[in-house]
Amino acid sequence: MRGEFDGLAAVVTGGASGIGLATALHLAGRGARVACLDLRPDGLPEPLLGIAADVTDDATVRAGVAAAVEALGGLDILVNNAGIGAVGTVEGNDDDEWHRVLDVNVVGLVRVSRAALPHLRRSAHAAIVNTCSIVAHAGVPDRALYSASKGAVQALTAAMAADHVREGIRVCCVNPGTVDTPWVRRLLAQAADPEAELAALQARQPTGRLVAAEEVAAAIGYLASPLAGATTGTVLAVDGGMHGLRMRPR
Ligand code: NAD
Repeated sequence: MRGEFDGLAAVVTGGASGIGLATALHLAGRGARVACLDLRPDGLPEPLLGIAADVTDDATVRAGVAAAVEALGGLDILVNNAGIGAVGTVEGNDDDEWHRVLDVNVVGLVRVSRAALPHLRRSAHAAIVNTCSIVAHAGVPDRALYSASKGAVQALTAAMAADHVREGIRVCCVNPGTVDTPWVRRLLAQAADPEAELAALQARQPTGRLVAAEEVAAAIGYLASPLAGATTGTVLAVDGGMHGLRMRPR
């Protein structure tokens, strides 16, 4: 069966869970050869290739991208998806916490992109898709550090799109709303009444439900695909209508 990613090779960071895993499966299911770079890449379903790498560690990033390129026979698509969260106002996180989260969410993306760009330049269908977030622009309370990190991801998307457009490398991002992933389930589990918290979270969504990881994966897949060859520097909201309807997550 022919798929839209036949013959293409992809690296997905944070590809062992949630949005990253759904994206890796989406790409592989449509013909791509896919490597997942993750802290814990064990136990991935076939045909995904797991490679251990920490996006905060340049040596493991370089080795991980090189191993992926070697195993996949090249690189056409990079999905910069690895990310961590943080709760708090600007008074709520100390300098160490700021450095820790920005090191994963922002500098991590830069490290992986730096390692991948020389390989992407050799592709006829090169694309980078960054997983950003609605917090980049929505003004979500108690998420100062996480919002700053994703604001940087959105700005980097535009800057990288401009820098690499004449090299034939497209760079876009998705802005998910609240997605039903292990991350969100972990947060819900910390609530006094997780069921009530989930119901309240669902009620705040324009659609009345959380976004599915597969819906974000499909958006990333479109932006990464040769079908989106005329699209770069673009943000695609996958937020249940939150941005389009001018609503706030809380
Ligand atoms: P998740 O926790 O389910 O998965 C994240 C994956 O990233 C994990 O497999 C983890 O091991 C990996 N990872 C974390 N730090 C890493 C590092 N230093 N190096 C390599 N891998 C690392 O999370 P998710 O909900 O799927 O989130 C994925 C991305 O989507 C993140 O960038 C997040 O900010 C973004 N996002 C999530 C939501 C949501 O509601 N879940 C909404 C908007 C944006």
